[in-house]
Amino acid sequence: MMLCGCSKIKKEKVNNPLAKESETLYVRKLDLSDDFIKGADVSSVISLENSGVKFYGWDGEECDIFKTLAESGINYIRVRVWNDPYTSYGEGYGGGNNDIDKAVEIGKRATKYGMKLLVDFHYSDFWADPSKQMVPKAWKTMEIEEKGQALYEFTKESLTTLKKEGIDVGMVQLGNETNGKMCGETTWVNIAYLMKQGSKAVREILPKAKIAVHFANPESGNYANYASKLDYYSLDYDVFASSYYPYWHGTLENLIEQLDGITETYGKEVMVAETSYAYTIEDTDFNGNTIGEGGAYVKNYPFTVQGQANCLVDTMEAVSKMKKGLGVFYWEPAWITVGTTSFDQNSLLWEEFGSGWASSYARAYDPNDAGKYYGGSAVDNQALFGPDGHPLESLKVFNLVNTGNPVEVKPDAIMDTHMDFDINGDIVLPEEVNAVMTDNSYRTVKVTWLDADIEAMKAGGIAKYVVHGTAEGQEALLYV
Ligand code: CA
Repeated sequence: MMLCGCSKIKKEKVNNPLAKESETLYVRKLDLSDDFIKGADVSSVISLENSGVKFYGWDGEECDIFKTLAESGINYIRVRVWNDPYTSYGEGYGGGNNDIDKAVEIGKRATKYGMKLLVDFHYSDFWADPSKQMVPKAWKTMEIEEKGQALYEFTKESLTTLKKEGIDVGMVQLGNETNGKMCGETTWVNIAYLMKQGSKAVREILPKAKIAVHFANPESGNYANYASKLDYYSLDYDVFASSYYPYWHGTLENLIEQLDGITETYGKEVMVAETSYAYTIEDTDFNGNTIGEGGAYVKNYPFTVQGQANCLVDTMEAVSKMKKGLGVFYWEPAWITVGTTSFDQNSLLWEEFGSGWASSYARAYDPNDAGKYYGGSAVDNQALFGPDGHPLESLKVFNLVNTGNPVEVKPDAIMDTHMDFDINGDIVLPEEVNAVMTDNSYRTVKVTWLDADIEAMKAGGIAKYVVHGTAEGQEALLYV
């Protein structure tokens, strides 16, 4: 029954058999609960669409990306909310210009296709992460109690707006990667005070929604400390969430240990609020990527579509093994290039629509970082969509983990080989190299070296040489 004059969003059922089969992607079956969160944070998507980006579905036709995500097994959408990511002239800071209006639009489309919404309040006018937690402009001069009241009202108003629109908000996040800082505050007494104001607003407006707190760097071993502080100040929350970027955040075994520790001590549910992995080292939008050539390469996940899928499967499995693991959100799987011509052409779109990580207008608020390094997407090579807007095969893992997809195991990438030789001895190149297989295992495979010039190496003396070869149709590299 509708008592609040709320609008109701007409839901559409989605079921696409094409999203549930793959001839190439190897996926092992996971034992996940039906309500395991398979989430995606697509906060930038409206700004991308405004920039002219088109997304396509599994049949190759242009399609609402939210439909494609739902068909692919995504059941939760996460959206960041900044208080006021604009200058006084209305110029957007970029990063999707994600204010509450964007959350409404994203939330409506998520709800339409049966996905819940996680509202991620940064309590800032722009990016909040462990390195910066800047206070919103409007709250800059406020003392802590006044700021707490403003945060309470902002949370309440934002959630009321989402509720009135009929959006299915399942969870609300109080701050983003708040490792000892939030909203310009750096003491736990003040951070917890502000979080409590947010928590109070969520319980009042959306009593059924879960309340999450969110931290980064599980490898630091600081989570028990953060949780003890929140407990000490009696914060009312349900979920202790972590970012997990495999390049920087330690092992999955450690992640399990850290989050299980929180559950054991405080009974909290846990989840991965952000993760991603690169499927290529190529950059496609002329703005350098966080993970690029020479970037951190984790364990046996090559930078391939299969490696990306395997990393995600392992992360989902790790969370499913936790005592109270809710699920995993993939961060910005659709933040692809806005164009293919040049940096300058793309830059016009980033500036106008906020579709890059930051625009030059962010200078007014964040002069030392965004103001200097503004530009495009630094994660286009970690998307689950190709630069042409078509979904990658790896997006199917969210469905395929339910059944498993045991296609024939093949070499996915050839590991680089490193060898040292005595300059006076014989130089004998290996006949076999290690391949990473599509199921994450290793196998040795025969290699053919194409440009090995042993005489030249001997004549050249002590030095490093790179020999190129081919194995199972893939490039092999030998560093001598
Ligand atoms: Ca890029």
